[in-house]
Amino acid sequence: MSHPHPELSTPPKLPRNGLRVVGLGGLGEIGRNMTVFEHAGKLLIVDCGVLFPEEHQPGIDVILPDFSWIRDRLDQVVAIVLTHGHEDHIGGVPYLLRERSDIPVIGSKLTLALIEAKLKEHRIKPKVQQVREGEQVKLGPFDLEFVAVNHSIPDGLAVAIRTPAGLVLHTGDFKMDQFPLDDRITDLRAFARLGEEGVDLFLVDSTNAEVPGFTMSERELTPAIETVFRTAPRRVIVSSFASHVHRIQQVLDAAHAHGRKVAFVGRSMVRNMGVARELGYLNVPDNLIVPLDQLEKMAPHKVALVCTGSQGEPMAALSRMANRDHKIRIGEGDTVLMASSVIPGNENAISGVINGLTRWGAHVVHKGNAKVHVSGHASAGELVYCYNIVRPGNVMPVHGEWRHLQANADLAIRTGVPKERVVLAEDGVVVDLVDGRAKITGKVPAGNVYVDGQTVGGATEASLKDRRTLAEEGVVTVLAIVDADTGKLAEPPDFLIRGFVHDEKAFEAAVPVVEKTLAHAAREGIGDSHQLEQMLSRDIGQWAHKKFRRSPVIIPIVIDA
Ligand SMILES: [Zn+2]
Repeated sequence: MSHPHPELSTPPKLPRNGLRVVGLGGLGEIGRNMTVFEHAGKLLIVDCGVLFPEEHQPGIDVILPDFSWIRDRLDQVVAIVLTHGHEDHIGGVPYLLRERSDIPVIGSKLTLALIEAKLKEHRIKPKVQQVREGEQVKLGPFDLEFVAVNHSIPDGLAVAIRTPAGLVLHTGDFKMDQFPLDDRITDLRAFARLGEEGVDLFLVDSTNAEVPGFTMSERELTPAIETVFRTAPRRVIVSSFASHVHRIQQVLDAAHAHGRKVAFVGRSMVRNMGVARELGYLNVPDNLIVPLDQLEKMAPHKVALVCTGSQGEPMAALSRMANRDHKIRIGEGDTVLMASSVIPGNENAISGVINGLTRWGAHVVHKGNAKVHVSGHASAGELVYCYNIVRPGNVMPVHGEWRHLQANADLAIRTGVPKERVVLAEDGVVVDLVDGRAKITGKVPAGNVYVDGQTVGGATEASLKDRRTLAEEGVVTVLAIVDADTGKLAEPPDFLIRGFVHDEKAFEAAVPVVEKTLAHAAREGIGDSHQLEQMLSRDIGQWAHKKFRRSPVIIPIVIDA
């Protein structure tokens, strides 16, 4: 197995008969999946998603893949293929199309409808090409073939990419539910056929590679969901990902069977379910859905709400209900069904939401106390099947943190793929397929690009460090009016304190520090206010650390009197 090394640098020129593969996201993390393929001077992009921020990235909306490696070569991009409609696969597309709006976007009917609805909000009308499983498309030097895969959103596709350098199969996100709600199973016969032809490089979803056995069927959730709708004394409030069409289908069926009306809550939920329903992916009985204001006037045991916020996202409907910051008031007898997974890192936020809802009297049903969720990804048992069916020449695990990639690599090796033909790569690591061998040849930039309100890339690691310091230590502003002639304080300095000790007088004892620093500066002949501010920041910072064992952000403002 080849491990990437930190000393990797710019890769050599790609040989004419080679195919270059670079994951700009999704390798070493769960999210912002994006893989770039290069052959004969052309680029093909598969997926372009976002990553959701963690607690140590305060204020950040989403994190994008770093486009800098391809920024100067966008004219060489033949298309972007979207394997399915999840945010971590399509969420970055608006930002990529901002840089070149006419990149053709290829995907299945539902995936394209979801990305078009999203792009509409960004006022971008994309150039799209709809494909379905079994279809072949030629784009420059890339011959694509699409294969049906089953996942937690309908209409997922794997993509086979043929070039003179070899045949690549990229699974996208997938699992192998044998009894899916839409009867569309992962097409293992196509996998086998491609395997017979000879898959030179197999890129495989690693998300659940650590989980032994097989992922349960979506249908196995039916009893638990049924029970909720049968026994809930008052309203049922369901939270789910806004894209989880299958899960929401089960919720709608249960609501209908028990005579409840349903309203969708939350912009993305309303938008996505509208799209899914219009295209026939969501089967909605007549008169089942009612607008929220109408629903609120109905008897509580006759209604259900479907909303976003299953990950404890602070701005989503469910969190706001838990905080009494939403017009839907949770009360005694309400039942909340959290019908989705816990994305690693969100545990605390979700627990906070469950506590909030419980405090208002709700009964909360979640994956910790009922069988209300199955994963959308193949477990180890399914992955091993795939390796045995495809018999790939080389393997590159994708979509996962390092541990998931490693576990997936181990599975491939156990099925007989030679160790040296399994490539473990992180974001930005360059993998070249030449003469049937995949090897790491270098690294390109692949940092975090932060979307922060209206700015993209404006927030940096340094600004996040400042935010964390502000959050943990607080801020002290020192206003010093200095006599330009003497270099001494013209009047006592003002200390403005936020998020630090409550006592405004705490810094009175720092006045001598300010005086001493100014005296020192005067002796050295330093009168420039910017330089004085730097000296004050350092000296007051040291004093505060000694006195309080804290390191607040110190912002001195020196004004000449
Ligand atoms: Zn997915």
